[in-house]
Amino acid sequence: MRHRVEIVGGGPAGIAAAIWARRLDWEPAIYERGSSLGGQLNQVSLPITDLPGFPGIRAHELCQQLSIQLDKLHVPIFYGQEAMGYDRGYLHFAEGRCIASSAVVLAPGVRARRLAVPGADLVEDVSVSDLLAAKEPGPTAVIGGGDRAVEAACRLAERGIATLVIHRGHRLGAIPALQQRLAASGAEVLTESRVAAVEPWAGGWRIHVDCGRRRVVHSVHQVVVRIGMIPDLSARWQASLNTEADHVYLIGDAAQSAAYRSLVTAFADGMVAVKTLVSKPICRHKPIQDCSGMVEPGSNPTLR
Ligand SMILES: Cc1cc2nc3c(=O)[nH]c(=O)nc-3n(C[C@H](O)[C@H](O)[C@H](O)COP(=O)(O)OP(=O)(O)OC[C@H]3O[C@@H](n4cnc5c(N)ncnc54)[C@H](O)[C@@H]3O)c2cc1C
Repeated sequence: MRHRVEIVGGGPAGIAAAIWARRLDWEPAIYERGSSLGGQLNQVSLPITDLPGFPGIRAHELCQQLSIQLDKLHVPIFYGQEAMGYDRGYLHFAEGRCIASSAVVLAPGVRARRLAVPGADLVEDVSVSDLLAAKEPGPTAVIGGGDRAVEAACRLAERGIATLVIHRGHRLGAIPALQQRLAASGAEVLTESRVAAVEPWAGGWRIHVDCGRRRVVHSVHQVVVRIGMIPDLSARWQASLNTEADHVYLIGDAAQSAAYRSLVTAFADGMVAVKTLVSKPICRHKPIQDCSGMVEPGSNPTLR
């Protein structure tokens, strides 16, 4: 009998795990909460320049190739399936549905870190493209100093929008090329400036910023928060990783520190996880009976 592996997340890491599972004669199935494959590749608009063998490939082209490869390998993919956690032999989905599983590769990627100051919960997570598409985008504050923050600020300032970058560090952390672009863009940069609170004001926002011993208030139309990415793991998944380490393997961006998050590490992680699984004896859990919608392993948990 072939061994099964349930793969959570249809981004590059999950896809690589599925390809390697097939190659090593296991039965993979991918569960993706969204409606398409590719994960963050769906947000990449510029050509990818650093994927060995494919210089300049477009992200949508790469997604297409990966999808064709999975099709050829007959890997089942179940969309609209958010896996909630793993517990004593069952992979759980929303509404109490679950499937029996003895091996899960978890590849959920990352999500934006939220600003933890009073009023920040009221600030919506906006994309720069949406802001640029607005009729009259007004002065905008970009909070953060890494690549994502600086790239966002460049795009706004280059379109003539008054842009203020607020960064708590002594200097920006973005790569030199982005910093040069920012310097030429006309954006204003505040370093050693810590946001203390955000409040709605006259249809826009007032941002309270601590600069040393002084507190300064800046009024803007929009706030863009880009203060880093964190693993997209709920408390329940974190608990599963602690208690079920023999059955759940975390891979891809969610397992890497910020400096190493990339397509090549995601692809490599998929391979390492599956080879690790293959080299282990499969541990079988005793079935439990508290799942309301239990279905066959490797099937769509919406089906009964
Ligand atoms: C704008 C941008 C540009 C980039 N440019 C490059 C580049 O040029 N070169 C490079 O190497 N890298 C680049 N990257 C990074 C690269 O895209 C990521 O490193 C890679 O996508 C990580 O793959 P992943 O599978 O770990 O995570 P992701 O791509 O984030 O995929 C995770 C998937 O898991 C799904 N998911 C999450 N939780 C669940 C759940 N509980 N149940 C079911 N499904 C779930 C998500 O919907 C998503 O589809 C870029 C990223 C961005 C955003």
